[in-house]
Amino acid sequence: MSGVRCEAVLLRSVEYGESDRIVHLLTSDHGRLTAIAKGARRSHRRFPGTLDVFNRLAIEGRLKPRASMAFLEQARLVDAFLGLRDEPRRYALASFLVEMLDRLSPEGVAGSEAARLFRFTIESLDLVARVRPDATLRVLLELRALDALGLRPELGRCVRCGRVPAPDVAPGHVVQFHVADGGIVCTPCALRLDGLVPIELGTLRRLAQGLDGTLEALGEARLEGRALAQAARLLFRFQRFHVGVELRSERFLEEVLPVSAPGAA
Ligand SMILES: [Zn+2]
Repeated sequence: MSGVRCEAVLLRSVEYGESDRIVHLLTSDHGRLTAIAKGARRSHRRFPGTLDVFNRLAIEGRLKPRASMAFLEQARLVDAFLGLRDEPRRYALASFLVEMLDRLSPEGVAGSEAARLFRFTIESLDLVARVRPDATLRVLLELRALDALGLRPELGRCVRCGRVPAPDVAPGHVVQFHVADGGIVCTPCALRLDGLVPIELGTLRRLAQGLDGTLEALGEARLEGRALAQAARLLFRFQRFHVGVELRSERFLEEVLPVSAPGAA
């Protein structure tokens, strides 16, 4: 059995048996881990009120080779992201993010890949806890989360033949995004393909900017009307294709931070 001592964000926590908890953790060194915290609901010494969702923790535990579950022995609170807990839009957006990370984070990653995904998680929770979330931030953070999870959509060139839309094409020109291939497709390549989502070039460029800037800059970005609705639909279809089911947090998120604009093309 090998020791684990690193940081983690708690993605999900469920009661188990009389006094235990099973927790899903995104760790800085080992990627996603499922762990059992024995006696967690009794021991305030080892787990002083720490096993709540969103919490950033310093953890100690053990990994058994080839076992699917780790043992969490201690957890100390590093950051509770308090700003997420008293405002419905922040809470809903953070819940959506951690649920997506829980569903799509690969198990068994390590090293720089684990560290990068952990850093994205910390930075995005910190951002959501500080700003006033709007629908643009919702859409762009969903995009960045997919990118951090290794599912970066190809927005600049045809994902099948590599053709790049000419620079003089009007921003209102509609191109097709192929959900299964995860990128735009040119007109000849789009023939006979199913699962296409139409999107204007101008909207694609705004999404591409959202992929490349800092997370902090997303708080300043604005997508409105048709562009917002198109971007939201593309992200929704792409996310659902990879997650496969409706996330538990999705309905509440749509209630408090709606992205569907009336009359959107
Ligand atoms: Zn093509």
